[in-house]
Amino acid sequence: MKKEKFKPLSPSIKTVSQGNLCSGCGACELIAGPSIEIRNTADGFIRPTQLGELSSDQEGLIARCCPGLVQVSCGGAGAQHPLWGNVASLWTGHSTDDDLRFQASSGGGLSAALFFLLGSGKVDGVVQVRASETLPYANAISISTSIEEIAEAAGSRYAPSAPLAGLRSLMGSGKRYAFVGKPCDVAALRALTGLEPALENSFPYLISFFCAGVPSTKGAEEVIRKMGAAPEQVTEFRYRGNGWPGRAVATLADGTTRSMTYHDSWGGILSKHVQHRCKICADGTGDAADIVFADAWEADERGYPLFEERDGRSLILVRTPKGQTILEGAVRESHIAVEPFDIAELEKIQPGQTGRRRALLARLLALRLLGKPTPQYQGFSILAAARTGSFAWSARNFLGMVRRILLGRAP
Ligand SMILES: Cc1cc2nc3c(=O)[nH]c(=O)nc-3n(C[C@H](O)[C@H](O)[C@H](O)COP(=O)(O)OP(=O)(O)OC[C@H]3O[C@@H](n4cnc5c(N)ncnc54)[C@H](O)[C@@H]3O)c2cc1C
Ligand code: SF4
Ligand code: SF4
Repeated sequence: MKKEKFKPLSPSIKTVSQGNLCSGCGACELIAGPSIEIRNTADGFIRPTQLGELSSDQEGLIARCCPGLVQVSCGGAGAQHPLWGNVASLWTGHSTDDDLRFQASSGGGLSAALFFLLGSGKVDGVVQVRASETLPYANAISISTSIEEIAEAAGSRYAPSAPLAGLRSLMGSGKRYAFVGKPCDVAALRALTGLEPALENSFPYLISFFCAGVPSTKGAEEVIRKMGAAPEQVTEFRYRGNGWPGRAVATLADGTTRSMTYHDSWGGILSKHVQHRCKICADGTGDAADIVFADAWEADERGYPLFEERDGRSLILVRTPKGQTILEGAVRESHIAVEPFDIAELEKIQPGQTGRRRALLARLLALRLLGKPTPQYQGFSILAAARTGSFAWSARNFLGMVRRILLGRAP
């Protein structure tokens, strides 16, 4: 009988798995496929499975680029904002195409930037996420080569996506792609690009969005059940868009639809299904991207964001000279209309990002004190961010994480 070959488990993958630190970016498959394959798991996330032995080069690359293990800020030598990092310029704006503005997640700014990159010939296509054809509330990676395809993919999808996993197949053709991913996806790709320059030729523009965390697909299933339907009945699913913020809408096999407000779907259900790595994320704001988009929520007099339906407005944060080129080009070609935004106001309209950055030091301390692994963050001003908040907030988050660990809910 043929003996199965012993495959020693990658120490990096083992640490990530033991600490539940995987964000599901897919970089390990890009580095070490087919020995590593990204798969859907029973708990509704995307995680690596090791199928073969890794070379020491592959092991080394994963150890340096996996965002579950390490993340180095790209902030550079300039003065860093303790909460928002390296900000070259900050704007609000919206797509000038009314249909796109309506369809998109916030103001369609991100898709408008992609219209410019594709339309001006700076790229041949866009690597982005859209609805899966087999499971409508899950995600698939698509390569858009027309503005129609970019518009179809507009809208945030609060479910796992691993956009790095298949990138190897796009290299070597001489084609250039814009890459859209979560901040951790972009961080992993940026880190890899520094070690494998050929990646930059294929993926010269890295675009991201503010990210509060990725929920399991179990979250969407709970939303669908709360809407009074069964997940198996769903043929199409939008998490939001078609308005700002827009409702979560499930279309069923009989042609009827069920819907729920953003406040109830994200605030009441999806946010409770977010993976552990996201609760200790040092970078929900796309530190490694060229340009980053978010919701430019309106705030009430107490500073709480208002989620009443209105015309969409994107927040646009430029981080690099390439990002500036994208924004200037998109404005010049009339894809997007913008106005400057004061960074001092950002905290008010992004309370979730602000609170998590301020809580990070306390949460990491709790994990380390109880012997749990954490990602190694370098250059993220974690102490400075904590100091912008109150001692009470840090204490609450420290005790909250200790409690989660003792109750077996983390990591
Ligand atoms: C998981 C998640 C968490 C978010 N958290 C915040 C937050 O805390 N604060 C905030 O202001 N904004 C957050 N956003 C971003 C926000 O919802 C909008 O995407 C952003 O404002 C850009 O809007 P837009 O109209 O310019 O983009 P659009 O023109 O609608 O384009 C959206 C782009 O995002 C891509 N995309 C959608 N879902 C995913 C996904 N799961 N993985 C990778 N790419 C995806 C699409 O392919 C498309 O290219 C989050 C988005 C996601 C997916
Ligand atoms: S975080 Fe990304 S690179 Fe690290 S194990 Fe998970 S999928 Fe792989
Ligand atoms: S919160 Fe951070 S770790 Fe989680 S998906 Fe978003 S960028 Fe990645």
